[in-house]
Amino acid sequence: MRATSRRPEEVIIVGGGIIGCSIAWQLSCRGRSVRILERQEPGGLATHAAAGILGPFNETDRPGPFLDLMRRSLHLYPDFVARLIEETGLSPDFEPSGILSVALSGEERGGLLERYAWQSALDPSIVFCEPDQARLFEPALTGPFDSAIYYPDEGHVFAPRLIKALLGALTRRRVPLEQGVAVTRIAPSGHGTLLVYDQEGECREAEKVILAAGALLSDIEIPGTRIAVFPVNGQILAVRSPGSFYRRVVFYPPHGYFVPKLDGTVVIGATEESIGPRTRVTPAGLMEFLSPLAGLAPELLDLPLHHTWSGLRPKSSDGFPIMGPHPECPGLFLAGGHYRNGILLAPVTGEIMADWIDGGAPDASTPFLPARFLKSDRG
Ligand SMILES: Cc1cc2nc3c(=O)[nH]c(=O)nc-3n(C[C@H](O)[C@H](O)[C@H](O)COP(=O)(O)OP(=O)(O)OC[C@H]3O[C@@H](n4cnc5c(N)ncnc54)[C@H](O)[C@@H]3O)c2cc1C
Repeated sequence: MRATSRRPEEVIIVGGGIIGCSIAWQLSCRGRSVRILERQEPGGLATHAAAGILGPFNETDRPGPFLDLMRRSLHLYPDFVARLIEETGLSPDFEPSGILSVALSGEERGGLLERYAWQSALDPSIVFCEPDQARLFEPALTGPFDSAIYYPDEGHVFAPRLIKALLGALTRRRVPLEQGVAVTRIAPSGHGTLLVYDQEGECREAEKVILAAGALLSDIEIPGTRIAVFPVNGQILAVRSPGSFYRRVVFYPPHGYFVPKLDGTVVIGATEESIGPRTRVTPAGLMEFLSPLAGLAPELLDLPLHHTWSGLRPKSSDGFPIMGPHPECPGLFLAGGHYRNGILLAPVTGEIMADWIDGGAPDASTPFLPARFLKSDRG
């Protein structure tokens, strides 16, 4: 293995997806020197595949720290996007257009009412709707359904444009991003820094290393217990819509969602398949979330198919994000397992990880520390 001849970096981030880039941007804003190592295309595993929904209340069935984290990140979004536009002139098409969550049948009404009870106590702007009222928010729901909840503060962003804006901001800030560098191993140097080895055996040295390698995070050998992150394949597609008939994100759980984008496409998704580190698109997969639309919004199924694709969500073993220091390796930090919500959680993750690098121990990260897995492994 070739040894490094460079001076140690202050911070190396492994992985240039939305999470790695958001952390790098936040660190750079705080005057830190940071370098990103990326094996292929930045965000190529998950970020480019995402529907870009920013919908905390649809992503958990209870109040608690996870909901608080998602809501905090949603509140950071307007400023996050405004600063990126200011720095780059690139818009990530952030649309706080509101989200509808629909109960298709009478049996689902009870569950929706239960959700409404605890959610509206936290956010009184949330509205429970009978179908006629829901159709005022989204006229495309021409078919029968039982009821809906409307979340006025939620919305969506165009994930590929968001990472493009972040990458643009990083370039302007002269944050180096090395592509084609697949990190294989982290090791202690013996004098307080960490060595970062890549697939060619080349070695870089850093004071601090953040692993933000998405669904492949646990492939990297580290000093200390490896913390599991699993890939979950998501199939998804887009149709092209004439004009702006579709207005709002609609969830029809548990089957799927659709998201009208500002570019005239409507994104419809998505499957969740644990099939290992590979992606696939299958007719059966697409039917899972398309079939219920034949009743709910049949016109959507007549629109020209624009594109189908899939990506790998990074899921931790308890389904929650992992953010903070590795308890067995000084200088090593993890930022992963963002699963269905990495786009939503990008701003808050950037802030929390930058606080860790600055020497803080942010309260909001306590429930999401890597240490929770080590404790449970030891009973
Ligand atoms: C179909 C689908 C729909 C989704 N919809 C939404 C949504 O609506 N809203 C939402 O918030 N989230 C959504 N998500 C989830 C979101 O996309 C992810 O949570 C998020 O992109 C994770 O970001 P990341 O940076 O951790 O991972 P990634 O985007 O996968 O980035 C990780 C990067 O690390 C690189 N890498 C991996 N291993 C190495 C290595 N050894 N060395 C160097 N580099 C490495 C990879 O090449 C990659 O670029 C969706 C995901 C999918 C698949």
